[in-house]
Amino acid sequence: MSDCIFCKIVAGQLPAKKVFEDEDLIVFHDINPVAPVHLLAIPKKHIESLAAADGEDALVMGKLLHVGSRMAIEQGCTDGFRTLINTGRVGRQEVYHLHVHFVGGPDVLPPMLKR
Ligand code: 5GP
Ligand code: ZN
Repeated sequence: MSDCIFCKIVAGQLPAKKVFEDEDLIVFHDINPVAPVHLLAIPKKHIESLAAADGEDALVMGKLLHVGSRMAIEQGCTDGFRTLINTGRVGRQEVYHLHVHFVGGPDVLPPMLKR
């Protein structure tokens, strides 16, 4: 946990372009965006991944979706966006602190996965 970059953002030890913060979560801009709008919504609590979340995390997980969606719209995703959670090795998760991606912008996104 001590070397978790998202915990460092939560603790204020690493800078982030935050668009929302409350007692449970932060929403901030991804450092390496894949689209004009690319936000990450993270719980302040260190939860390794979606697979590691348990029942008591259900409330904050719902909040991540609700607040993240509001922020995506506020940042310009008025005509839709994509919500993504990469989980574990197969899901190619890079940062092992649960986060929800909100990706969008003015144009239609490419297909989610290549067939
Ligand atoms: P994952 O592949 O784990 O779902 O996505 C991790 C995301 O975190 C990537 O999109 C990456 O660009 C983003 N990221 C990694 N390090 C930092 C950082 O220090 N600050 C911010 N804002 N985003 C980061
Ligand atoms: Zn963490």
